[in-house]
Amino acid sequence: MTMKRCRECETPLIFGRSIIWTGGGTVAARALPELRLFFIEIDELINLLSYLGELLGTPIDHILMESERPIGRAMVEATLPPLLIRAVRCIPDAFQRFFFARGAFRRIADYARAMGYGSITMIAYEGRRRSLMRVRNPHSIPLIIGDCLGAFQLILGVNMSVEWKRENGTTLIEFRRTEEKPYDVPIPRAPYLEGQAELARCPRCRAPLLLRETFEWDLVNGIITNRRTAYREAFLSVEGINAIFSEMERELGEEIPLVVARRQADLMRERLSRRKLDEEGGLLAVFQEMQLRGMGNPVEVEEIGRQLKVRVENPFNDALVAGRIAGCYEALEGVRSKMSWVSSEDGYVVVGVEPASDG
Ligand SMILES: [Zn+2]
Repeated sequence: MTMKRCRECETPLIFGRSIIWTGGGTVAARALPELRLFFIEIDELINLLSYLGELLGTPIDHILMESERPIGRAMVEATLPPLLIRAVRCIPDAFQRFFFARGAFRRIADYARAMGYGSITMIAYEGRRRSLMRVRNPHSIPLIIGDCLGAFQLILGVNMSVEWKRENGTTLIEFRRTEEKPYDVPIPRAPYLEGQAELARCPRCRAPLLLRETFEWDLVNGIITNRRTAYREAFLSVEGINAIFSEMERELGEEIPLVVARRQADLMRERLSRRKLDEEGGLLAVFQEMQLRGMGNPVEVEEIGRQLKVRVENPFNDALVAGRIAGCYEALEGVRSKMSWVSSEDGYVVVGVEPASDG
């Protein structure tokens, strides 16, 4: 069974029903507004994170799993009815194998497909003792594992240890109960600023119409594809990704945000020159896409000579927002840029970009 789509705009119904696009350029779960979400090209993100992993000299899988666990918990809390969660939590292991508990996990897998995480099937389920899943087309195995660990914590009240292996082009993930207490990565939160960002809505499901123009959903395989770039995208948690970046910053030092921003600018410039930015509405279109993606609300743009200054409220991540804006600037101006940004504790960032002196 797959999730239903809106008959008017063909967007999966979950987006109109369970997700809100705010005037402040953020996207959040209706039932749990502190769960902030965003769309990002998944290879672009994994590429950035693996690059940091190389600097760190260790695989980043572990950081990804640990940072995603509390997010998995929140995602399940935001999507399943509280009564269902409480009921499954009360069922003894001997009865977990019946349809009721499995049904809860099937629903989670449905949502995961709509969010672009791939297709996850439970192939053995023994409640708190053990379960075995098969994953096809994962957006990221460590992030899926982190989400599952959080889901088990919430629904079954237990911690699990995990092992996984590749098999015939799929991944098998086995979870077993453990008494070990996990390390809970601190989740960074930022204040929210109200704003006037407006996106035209579907008259039927109320999801932004731009969603349909931007993304294509394969709800059987759990894949979201960007219609313009043909790259794969996923709908992720802002706080989860920021927790990963702050863990890395803790390990690698304060210059990490600059490295991240530069890398993001380079990726963005390569993408945008391919997209012929001018034909698609220039910076304004880029800003609207940021609002659609839940990356923040660009409110003030100032051009002083060749310098561009943009104030973005509710940035999903200061370094990545700065890098995106610098990348656009480079694509538009055809030069390399020098960028800087000033972050505010009050929920905004001011990004400045100008031609690099050797540009
Ligand atoms: Zn619709």
